[in-house]
Amino acid sequence: MSTVLSETLDRYQKYVLPTYAPKQLFVRGKGAHLWDDENVEYLDFAAGIAVCNLGHCNERVTKAIVEQAQTLVHTSNLYYNSVMPRLAEKLVRETGFAGRVFFCNSGAEANEGLIKLARKYGNASHRNTIITMEDSFHGRTLATLAATGRAKYRKGFEPEVPGFKQVPFNDFAALEKALTPDVCAVMLEMVQGEGGVLPADPEYLKKVRALCDEKDILMLCDEVQCGMGRLGTRFAFQSFGVVPDAFSMAKAIANGVPMGGFIVREKFANVLTVGTHASTFGGTPLASAAALAVQTAFDEDGVLENCREQGAFLMEKLTEIVKPYSFVKGVRGKGLMIGVVLDRPAGALQSILLKHRLVTLTAGETVLRLVPPLVITRADAEQAIRSIAAGLQEFAASIEEK
Ligand SMILES: *Cc1c(COP(=O)(O)O)cnc(C)c1O
Repeated sequence: MSTVLSETLDRYQKYVLPTYAPKQLFVRGKGAHLWDDENVEYLDFAAGIAVCNLGHCNERVTKAIVEQAQTLVHTSNLYYNSVMPRLAEKLVRETGFAGRVFFCNSGAEANEGLIKLARKYGNASHRNTIITMEDSFHGRTLATLAATGRAKYRKGFEPEVPGFKQVPFNDFAALEKALTPDVCAVMLEMVQGEGGVLPADPEYLKKVRALCDEKDILMLCDEVQCGMGRLGTRFAFQSFGVVPDAFSMAKAIANGVPMGGFIVREKFANVLTVGTHASTFGGTPLASAAALAVQTAFDEDGVLENCREQGAFLMEKLTEIVKPYSFVKGVRGKGLMIGVVLDRPAGALQSILLKHRLVTLTAGETVLRLVPPLVITRADAEQAIRSIAAGLQEFAASIEEK
């Protein structure tokens, strides 16, 4: 064991709260590749949990960070800064509708903003309940936990924040049934990420949209994971042709510089007024500059096209290589958000793949989740397929031994 590894493990053990259980140290990254303390190279199909969509240490983003860090890092939102509104303009223009942005620092914080928007909107008509989906994930703050469709994350943190109820995803009849007069919003991920890489049915989304219009209910989308190019379109809703009233962003928005935000359609832009919502760091010049560089890369580097192309290639090859294995129930997803669905926990397969130097994630216990940088090359995709083929074989052998 290297000195840096042993010292790192020691410091984690003594000084870091044990809310995570990491298994691997990385010290350097470039593009879709990571290196450990002994200079061993890994192919990264996790991208810092769908964050580093332009790959590690992307030159455009690094340059923007360095230049902005030498100019102005933070002044707070009590003063104008010239970078944040440029980002707001760019993002709103790319949505294709008139709207406004609020910037914050994380996915949970962005979703908290959507929840506050919904409550403020419903307040005048005494409606304060938000319907969310089973198996959804919206964050770890108390309100976003209440919105999250997984009871086990809430356990021990009672009392729960009231005003939320969950219905099964992609089940329109269940949603209609839950629609009591106190409902002010419906909130969902167009592709559920943590819950198991499960895309919404486009017909379902159209019906949800129509229902929200009919009942004057806000349709809120959590694009924290499935947005920012991940599905092959800049925003997730553009892959489904259904426009929400407001949606949240975070993870990949600034390629690893902490940032979140939400976009509200113009019609609802005066719900949150002066003094009703705030964030000290929200939209710092530093984070905004990094996020602008991400948008430039989408415009000029063919990132979205590459995402669609490599995504289609991976989906086709994965579907082929999983065929011999009865423990694989299927491959699903969209763009470069792909899930290999197993009939048992996926953690053991993930560990085998790490030994093959492929970094992956799991989702919802039984799904192996692949969310590589959107800039992977065909060679990267082929290498991943070889590793997964070898990993599946090893996993199958380990099952037989038992
Ligand atoms: C990661 C994630 C969040 C929470 O984001 P944080 O930045 O960790 O607070 C919320 N919603 C979805 C869909 C996510 O994937």
